[in-house]
Amino acid sequence: MAEIKKLDSLTASKIAAGEVVDRPVNVVKELTENALDAGATKITVELEGGGSDYIRVTDNGRGIKFEDLPLAIERFATSKISSVEDVYSVSTFGFRGEALAAISSVSHFTIKSIREGDRPGEVAVNYGTAADTRPSPISKGTQITVSKLFDNLPVRKKFLKSPRSSEAEILRFIKHFSMVNAGVEIIAVFDGTEVYRAYPADTMLELAKKVFSEDKVQLGEKVHGTSIKVSVCTTHPSVQRKRRDSIFIGVNGRVIKDPALTQAVVQAYHRVMPPNVYPAAVVDIRIDPSALDVNIHPAKAEVRFEAPSQLFAYVRDATEAALAKFTAAVYAEQEEILNEGQVEAGKKKISEVVMSAQERKDPFMHARPAFDLSREFKSAPVKEQARPDAYAETYQQPPENGAAQPEPADGIQPETEQFIVIGQLADTYILCGTPRGDLMIIDQHVAHERILYEKYRMEKLQALPSMTLFEPVVVKFDDEELLFLPSMADELASFGYSFELFGGKEVKVTRAPVDVLKKDIGKEFSEIIHDAMNLRKSSSQDYAVVVMSCRNAVKAGDKLDRYTMQHLVNALFETQNPHTCPHGRPIIYHLPAADLAKKFNR
Ligand code: ADP
Ligand code: MG
Repeated sequence: MAEIKKLDSLTASKIAAGEVVDRPVNVVKELTENALDAGATKITVELEGGGSDYIRVTDNGRGIKFEDLPLAIERFATSKISSVEDVYSVSTFGFRGEALAAISSVSHFTIKSIREGDRPGEVAVNYGTAADTRPSPISKGTQITVSKLFDNLPVRKKFLKSPRSSEAEILRFIKHFSMVNAGVEIIAVFDGTEVYRAYPADTMLELAKKVFSEDKVQLGEKVHGTSIKVSVCTTHPSVQRKRRDSIFIGVNGRVIKDPALTQAVVQAYHRVMPPNVYPAAVVDIRIDPSALDVNIHPAKAEVRFEAPSQLFAYVRDATEAALAKFTAAVYAEQEEILNEGQVEAGKKKISEVVMSAQERKDPFMHARPAFDLSREFKSAPVKEQARPDAYAETYQQPPENGAAQPEPADGIQPETEQFIVIGQLADTYILCGTPRGDLMIIDQHVAHERILYEKYRMEKLQALPSMTLFEPVVVKFDDEELLFLPSMADELASFGYSFELFGGKEVKVTRAPVDVLKKDIGKEFSEIIHDAMNLRKSSSQDYAVVVMSCRNAVKAGDKLDRYTMQHLVNALFETQNPHTCPHGRPIIYHLPAADLAKKFNR
């Protein structure tokens, strides 16, 4: 007797079913994707017992012809392709014709459907054995009911997750699916209770806010010709999740996993968030189907892109565009405060200040702050560049270019500031109030660090003032540091340091920035190298800039006068990201007036 025998088709299909459906969530995925392929604009998912007792998916799509119903549940029967070449241009989710066959071979399965102008029909299938097609009362679309899932495969049933975790997994899928298919109404009913609903009018941004339970979400987009559009909705950097699993990705409405594209989102945050925490985000990629191979994964949970590195850059760019809007939102808020409060008086004061400031030459001449921050503030991006609309209205002729901008004068009226310094706390924090009554507590060191970081980056490391040392300073380094030093030479030069490698393990510092001449130059230099090396290990790109911003910033414990603090605060809100320092530490603690009022039972 032959030892090799062909499996009967029912056994083969049960085995194949394992590839497509091994958990209730896969059933939901296949059925909702089919509904979307059928042009549905409303999909309802009902389930009981985490899906292993009962799953029902109802849609209002185009339905199936009466005569096609028996075919729909047959393996390799599909209406979506007819030859292998079609696989590469298919825009629908399914095309293998496997899902309904697989699901109906491991459950009690009923499909009811009507195609417009045709007779409504239904077919019941019992673990792979189909009954005859019967007339059905259904009046629109398709409804598929799956019950007793895997009861004929006790081993697989035994390995299922608990109903609770299966429910959570399915809800997560439905939310993900809805965010990348905004416009489609999606309703989830678990054990008789509606647990989620995406309305047809909900935009992706609105859905993201709902799904992430966050208000601060922004949309960024990147469009490339007509073949690719990437939309990303992502949370404010203050939203910090412990895992990457709140980053959701969809391609042409298909829910996928893609570690590389997830990383593209994370990378866009690398300057504004500490390592090992992640934003919540959803990435919706719309791409020409021919640039995509969806045939590499049995459940189509992964796809292969024709140009993955290009797509990576698009996702990162779109995420950065969304992030940039948070800064814009801060300015818009300031404008709102301005317009809300003493509208006329406020505007008048501003124009007075601007005018009188124009007449002044150098406000630092007659008011030297205790801590000299004048150098960076003089070249900090000026207000009018950063928020043109807020200020354009307040005076007749906005200056043409940044260089000719007036300086804010030391005589500036506190009421015209959006963030009014109240004082310093513990020589470490700057307390500010807004006209609205919000309280801001600002960490002076990280705030200054953020200002310097952007200044240094923007100025492309223009050389800081430095001096050739009369007597070079000799510094010792270990082997690792010696290897690293030459790669830092250019950046160190722009920060005012020059050095020569000696024989042995010594380095001669020949030039140093004027600021450090009074300090221990050798110690300063070796600490910079040490810090830069450590940062480089944590894979920062512009570690020299980060190190120098940190070292040159005011420290916690430095006493600042009000004038200096106000300038620091103004400059902070002119940066791209006033919320986190280059290492990702938070800069501002914001206590809204409403929260204060609540505390005092007002
Ligand atoms: P595939 O989606 O790969 O074609 P399926 O087994 O999922 O294979 O479905 C088989 C066929 O049944 C589909 O090609 C489609 O013609 C039809 N079908 C399945 N679900 C629906 C639905 N909800 N609405 C309309 N037609 C459907
Ligand atoms: Mg399908």
